[in-house]
Amino acid sequence: MPSTNSNDDDTDATWRPLHVAIVGSTGSIGKSAIDVIIASSGRFVPFLLAAHRNTSKLIEQARACKPAWVVVVDPIAAAAEDWSGLPSDTKLAVGSDALDQLVGDPRVDRVLAAIVGSAGLRSTWSALEAGKVVALANKETLVMAGPLVMELAARSGSRIIPVDSEHSAIYQAMQAGHPNEVRKIILTASGGPFRKHSAEALTLVTVAEALRHPTWSMGPKITIDSATMMNKALELIEARWLFGVDANCLDVVIHPQSIVHSLVEFIDGSVVAQMGPPDMRLPIQYALTCPHRMECPARRLDFSGPLTLEFEPPDLGRFPAVRLGLEAARAGGTAGAVLNAANEAAVGRFLEGRMLFTDIAKVCERVLGEHRYKSSPSLDELMHVDTVARQEIEKWN
Ligand code: NAD
Ligand code: MG
Repeated sequence: MPSTNSNDDDTDATWRPLHVAIVGSTGSIGKSAIDVIIASSGRFVPFLLAAHRNTSKLIEQARACKPAWVVVVDPIAAAAEDWSGLPSDTKLAVGSDALDQLVGDPRVDRVLAAIVGSAGLRSTWSALEAGKVVALANKETLVMAGPLVMELAARSGSRIIPVDSEHSAIYQAMQAGHPNEVRKIILTASGGPFRKHSAEALTLVTVAEALRHPTWSMGPKITIDSATMMNKALELIEARWLFGVDANCLDVVIHPQSIVHSLVEFIDGSVVAQMGPPDMRLPIQYALTCPHRMECPARRLDFSGPLTLEFEPPDLGRFPAVRLGLEAARAGGTAGAVLNAANEAAVGRFLEGRMLFTDIAKVCERVLGEHRYKSSPSLDELMHVDTVARQEIEKWN
């Protein structure tokens, strides 16, 4: 079996289990990660499982894979739970400070950052400060604070390996050439459930309709982001910082089958893509084993019958979020944090039935256009624009 330790030069002779911290274990990515861990026959050992307040799921997961620690970020939820069902060797920790400390524990080899939204920044930051290899699902971390996060990773000698399927594909395709030889990075997008809706039909979209994604099964926030195509906007910004490319190198193509996960065009005209089933277990596992590979519980592509792959340009008129993402990727500075916070708050309002589907992008555009832009903000300044953007969304009616 090939080595997958955080030391990339390990050989079979130095094979040892890889200790993983799963931050956000009770979510969609977290559950897929547990599947990967259980299927790994001891290759991956969960050191820590952390969640916000779903304590019963956390106990169930702890019983299934026996981590050294479980962490509950919300103290009220932790106090309300009867923890007698926890395995005897699993310890309980409560609160964000405990999580920050445990992700930096010397025994942790890789941290899977799978909290949803801007809440994910803090523990990812702590893991990077501690020099950990971070398998990053929480794209909002890079959208908010890309330059600062990449700078921290470089300073601390840590590494970020993308979990987002598009970025995992780009990361893999980039290995076919030198970074200087890349002409374009093309992110694929399924187009979501409303790809063929007219502009008028989009105004009538309900929460239940928006929560039904045609190809991916995901948490509620990213499912709404996929329906508005704000997910692609966030991913453009994520790619800008993760790969250190000029925003003008970035493009989006609609690919409804979600099989080609993204493409890289090199200067000679070659286009290198990564393909796979729409199953997050594959990019999650790759982010844990990279640069090596091993058997994966994910579904496999079947070439025994006809397989059609379609590509078409996105309609920026009906899906203005993509344009906002390109603009924010070009602007840098505070733009990503503002777009991210405005979107998070707007999606929250939409899910509560207090905002129209089509108003999500509209209100984000307004808040982005009216905010006080700064080109090189500090982390505190980013937190401040995040708070202000959320307040602006609350005023919308
Ligand atoms: P989810 O809503 O299903 O799960 C979120 C997880 O984060 C839960 O475990 C929850 O307990 C935890 N959490 C939420 N708020 C928290 C807080 N304040 N403190 C600590 N923990 C908190 O979300 P998801 O779909 O699994 O997505 C997770 C991240 O991965 C997001 O950033 C998303 O954009 C990204 N991502 C998800 C998918 C997918 O297929 N689901 C694909 C690509 C990228
Ligand atoms: Mg994605």
